[in-house]
Amino acid sequence: MSGLFDQELALLRQANLARQRRQVAPLIAPADLSLTDEALRGTTYLINGQPRLSFGSNDYLGLSQHPALIQAAQQAAARYGVGATASPLVCGHSPEHEALEHELAAMVGLPRALYFYAGYAANVGIIPALVGKGDAVFSDALNHACLIDGIRLSRAESHVLPHADLAALESALKASTARRKLVVTDAVFSMDGNVVDAPALLTLCERHDAWLMLDDAHGFGVLGAHGEGTLSYHGMAGIDGVAGAWQGRLDRVIYMATLGKAAGVAGAFVAGEASMVEWVLQKARTYMFATAAPAMIAAPLRVSVGLMRDDAWRRTHLRALQDRLRDGVRQAKLPWALLPSDTAIQPLIIGSNEDALAVMARLDEQGVWVPAIRPPTVPVGTARLRISLSAAHTMAHVDQLCAALAQAAA
Ligand SMILES: *Cc1c(COP(=O)(O)O)cnc(C)c1O
Repeated sequence: MSGLFDQELALLRQANLARQRRQVAPLIAPADLSLTDEALRGTTYLINGQPRLSFGSNDYLGLSQHPALIQAAQQAAARYGVGATASPLVCGHSPEHEALEHELAAMVGLPRALYFYAGYAANVGIIPALVGKGDAVFSDALNHACLIDGIRLSRAESHVLPHADLAALESALKASTARRKLVVTDAVFSMDGNVVDAPALLTLCERHDAWLMLDDAHGFGVLGAHGEGTLSYHGMAGIDGVAGAWQGRLDRVIYMATLGKAAGVAGAFVAGEASMVEWVLQKARTYMFATAAPAMIAAPLRVSVGLMRDDAWRRTHLRALQDRLRDGVRQAKLPWALLPSDTAIQPLIIGSNEDALAVMARLDEQGVWVPAIRPPTVPVGTARLRISLSAAHTMAHVDQLCAALAQAAA
């Protein structure tokens, strides 16, 4: 058996597709940071023991090391203990989880929300709860792996459509005679950073009586005046509820977002029409047959949702960092280009796997860490550096990245 795996592993390495974990820890423990060290919080890590400025995390608002979140987690551990002990449907659902769900629903302006311990589990549970044999799912070619797995598990007929191609989607919807139709898409594409045209998608879904599932893992917290996400970015719903023009039209939307990225903690939620959410609670196997996230995760999430909503400066600063990076890259006249992106995800397309790894290594030598993303995560020939910005970064950090990129290209 080991011979077989050794052979397969050798092939992976030859194709530059073998992955390596790094051991990562904050350079200075968040609890020990002095005021003069604040710029290190959420930005500077020991990576395999070496200090590095990181552009690799999805901590878009810089909340993962926020003192108030750490304190809430500590207090909840003291109040509830550390383990949830069972599925939410048995005895794993605490008052913290219940309050969090109400706060999440209010934030996105939808009737009800249900909290899951992970985004992967949420998608793999939600889709098979909604559709099955005899139904059809229409999926964007660049959708996240867990949406793809959810579709496979559902056993619904799967139609994979070219990325963001509304015309192709429309003809597929028109041709389908399935009982139920579900359109599934990333709301912000995780390796590209572009935002989906949610109003146009919803209009298509109305025309062909389909449901629309949006995975807003990278939009929630980042987009919208209060970080409500992609629906707010498009003026459809948010903290003030469903916008006038969209009243009564969001019933067919299944909104999903994760809480381990901008929210800085862990987990995910699904939100939408109350009976749809109740159905997911009753039917999603990853909800029913998995131990709940501990209350010490739900409690800091409540603090996080409040900060996300109220700290508009985090988003303003993030925008300013995006502009600084785009200007810096332009001025450096690099042989590589950033994809157009309005979000914290700023991918620099390199091309081959070898080149992407080489550029990553040259940045690493200069103390800057940006992960290279290779197939199968992205299409062959589009290996990239996925630069991810965080409100924790300073302008000086972005300048340092641009200088390191110029050096790596020289
Ligand atoms: C990260 C991610 C997920 C998975 O969420 P986890 O909470 O990390 O399991 C789902 N969908 C998208 C688009 C993601 O980027």
